[in-house]
Amino acid sequence: MSLNLQQLERIRRDFVANVSHELRTPLTVLHGYLELLLDEQWDEPKKNMFTQMQQQTVRMENLIEDLLLLSTLENEDVAPTEHKSIDVPNLVDTICREAKTLSSGNHQFEINFDTNLSLNGNEKELRSLFSNLIFNAVKYTPSGGKIFVDWSEKNKKAYFSVKDTGIGIEAHHIPRLTERFYRVDPARSRASGGTGLGLAIAKHVLIRHEGKLEIKSQWGEGSVFTCIFPKGQYTITDFTEDK
Ligand code: ADP
Repeated sequence: MSLNLQQLERIRRDFVANVSHELRTPLTVLHGYLELLLDEQWDEPKKNMFTQMQQQTVRMENLIEDLLLLSTLENEDVAPTEHKSIDVPNLVDTICREAKTLSSGNHQFEINFDTNLSLNGNEKELRSLFSNLIFNAVKYTPSGGKIFVDWSEKNKKAYFSVKDTGIGIEAHHIPRLTERFYRVDPARSRASGGTGLGLAIAKHVLIRHEGKLEIKSQWGEGSVFTCIFPKGQYTITDFTEDK
């Protein structure tokens, strides 16, 4: 029996999805018991050991969640089933508050929303897209840097952009960033809790919302990640007309 490329790709995706799914329960059990152990009194070396074990289970859980989400997105590169009008300012406001916690006050945020502009899509997928871009800006921007988040419409397109004054990316890496597990600096990514799947997820969410990702960056200066949505994917409501 010879298989074509599409069938092989399908087998790969199913395998990854099945393995991820099977690992979920044992990991939840390990995580739960480690939390119980950490509630006990231990000497410092043992406490450190259990803390590290618990942190690693969190990393594995994040990886599994991202693998499962990615395999769902890859299996159906068509419009998501649950499509509704999403209040982007509200959604992004919540994500920015989480990002500020991650930043621990080390970054300055500047946020600009067009509050009349909403997007048609799947909330869970869009939350994942926007949070990956905003959390990356925090992770790859040293303390004291700035992060600009913008949601606006121009020339019949809606733009969601995240700009940072961080470490930047050398030009030759840019075309490969949305590949699964592609990282410019694997050690830095792991240290910041990254799974290496965030931008691959972002790419697939955008395909399913007819959008595209534009990445501009200057090594040592900072980066701008922009999601561009065509007309038909967003709605403008002029609330002033109601008055
Ligand atoms: P990770 O979990 O490693 O952050 P992503 O898929 O989200 O995975 O990003 C892939 C890689 O792209 C990162 O490892 C990092 O090298 C680079 N990257 C992403 N966002 C930024 C950014 N804002 N500034 C600099 N590099 C970035």
